Amino acid sequence: MLVHSRSGHFMINHTDTPLLTRGLLPRSGVLMTMRKCKLAILAIAVLLQVHTGAGYLFAQVPKAEAITRQETLRGSVTPERKWWDVLHYHLQVEFLPETRRLRGSNTITFKTQKPGKKMQIDLQPPLAITKITHGDSQLKFEREGNVYWVMFEKEIPKGVEDKIEIFYEGVPVVSRNPPWVGGITWGRDDLGEPLIVTTCEGIGASIWWPNKDHGADEPDRGMQISVTVPENLVAVSNGRLRKTDHDDGGKKKTFHWEVLNPINNYGVNVNIGNYVKLTEKYKGKGGTLDIEYWVLPHQKEAALRQFKEVPRMLEAFEHWFGKYPFYEDGYKLVTVQYPGMEHQSSVTYGNWFRNGYLQRDPCACGVGFKFDFIIVHESAHEWFGNNISMKDAADMWIHEGFANYAENLFVEYHFGKKDAEDYVIGTRRSIRNDRPIIGVYGSNRQGSGDMYPKGGNMLHTIRHVINDDAKWLFILRGLNADFWHQTVTTEQIESYISNKAGIDLSKVFDQYLRTTKIPLLKYNVNGKSVSFYYERVVKGFAMPIRVTINGKEIQITPNEVKQTFEFSEEIKTFEVNRNFYIEAAKSDL
Ligand SMILES: [Zn+2]
Repeated sequence: MLVHSRSGHFMINHTDTPLLTRGLLPRSGVLMTMRKCKLAILAIAVLLQVHTGAGYLFAQVPKAEAITRQETLRGSVTPERKWWDVLHYHLQVEFLPETRRLRGSNTITFKTQKPGKKMQIDLQPPLAITKITHGDSQLKFEREGNVYWVMFEKEIPKGVEDKIEIFYEGVPVVSRNPPWVGGITWGRDDLGEPLIVTTCEGIGASIWWPNKDHGADEPDRGMQISVTVPENLVAVSNGRLRKTDHDDGGKKKTFHWEVLNPINNYGVNVNIGNYVKLTEKYKGKGGTLDIEYWVLPHQKEAALRQFKEVPRMLEAFEHWFGKYPFYEDGYKLVTVQYPGMEHQSSVTYGNWFRNGYLQRDPCACGVGFKFDFIIVHESAHEWFGNNISMKDAADMWIHEGFANYAENLFVEYHFGKKDAEDYVIGTRRSIRNDRPIIGVYGSNRQGSGDMYPKGGNMLHTIRHVINDDAKWLFILRGLNADFWHQTVTTEQIESYISNKAGIDLSKVFDQYLRTTKIPLLKYNVNGKSVSFYYERVVKGFAMPIRVTINGKEIQITPNEVKQTFEFSEEIKTFEVNRNFYIEAAKSDL
């Protein structure tokens, strides 16, 4: 996904007040609805200033609430999920715009990992499962909140491939703020035609279709998505369009889409509108990549101009990360009415065909206007998010930290190192240090939104700790090759980078992912000598950094104990290399 707080008009629905006090107030008149809310928001901002004194504001840290049973069921690998591995989904779903209903089924093909009889299937109300079939028989099931307990007639032994079909229907949750709030948007395009889209990151795919709604298990053989819509509309989903059926009598069409690769649940999407298709071929590291742009008729010209960013993006990311991970499924951009989302092989786009992010510059340094943020950020997720996917939502930084970091790699590839550094360092302005980046495991609770800019800056810092660009490139490509189409944990990523770098980075990861503290380098200069040490660091933190003394760069390795060095000449200047995300303060030591 993307950082919601950067676009003014999306802040209304998130009581995202801390940002307001940092000069990121939305421009007035962005939306009509803005005006009403603005006074209230300003009042809150003023109140917060009063409460926090000098204006250096930490966000209110929400009290850690006990994890509910529903959160555990949604966010953990329960015994009723663990015994079976999803091999394939075939989702068949009809969208009924007139009544705003969904009706369909999902055939789940699975293989048993151990014997089992009771299965957990997720589907969130008001949608409801109406029937589950297993061969010729119907299975009994009962609902507990967002979960259905499905009982097989008898225990299925280990190592068996089997399938069930789950029928469901109802009026799904409506998203009031896609993509940050999940559900269905029964919207209209600029010309008043229907534009119906799904979004479900965070809340989960079970908000619109029944499945095993946990990141650890992706369908190994991919997924078919058959979408039925009124005959005047076009349904665009992930992967490739295999065929279209036209039911003349019923005045409807069914679009059969197929994904051959494993896909994470929230990456599955359907977009229904008055779409037309533009195509392009890209000669890349995996051969010829089929590219499709599904846009509205009046967007063709703008799309042809702005989507020239796509081959530039592919060239940069295939350089840094290795080949695009889904050649078999193609690459698509699909225009929607919200800013964008990393739907696998079907990236959704709503960035107004302009550079920047909704005409803003995430780094406030000018560089953000040199590229289309949505094309670059959301497509970066094809490597980090869709190729390498988190098992647990607490590790979401693996998606967002790397995607944020990838923006600066795109800039480096096309515009050079200086711009890239300005960009990633510029995004530090959005870091709040309110909560740790890693969330709460087993509960579907994500960590702080800092996972974007702070995650990106941690990776940028680590690159400079390694201080070997060839090795860093090898690591980035290696991650995508060695974790190809896999779900992973933070620990796997950490130890991979440490091992390949030949440097134990565990304390660096601990510091930036698991605390809200930014290392503070205390230093003092006295004639020819300089002293320094770290404050606000985890025990054992000794990250090497580079400093410039009298114009000459040297590496130092501070820790919590004061170190003093003598130079041959009087020290006139002492400066920390800006690429390291730390703070420095001169004081009497
Ligand atoms: Zn993202």
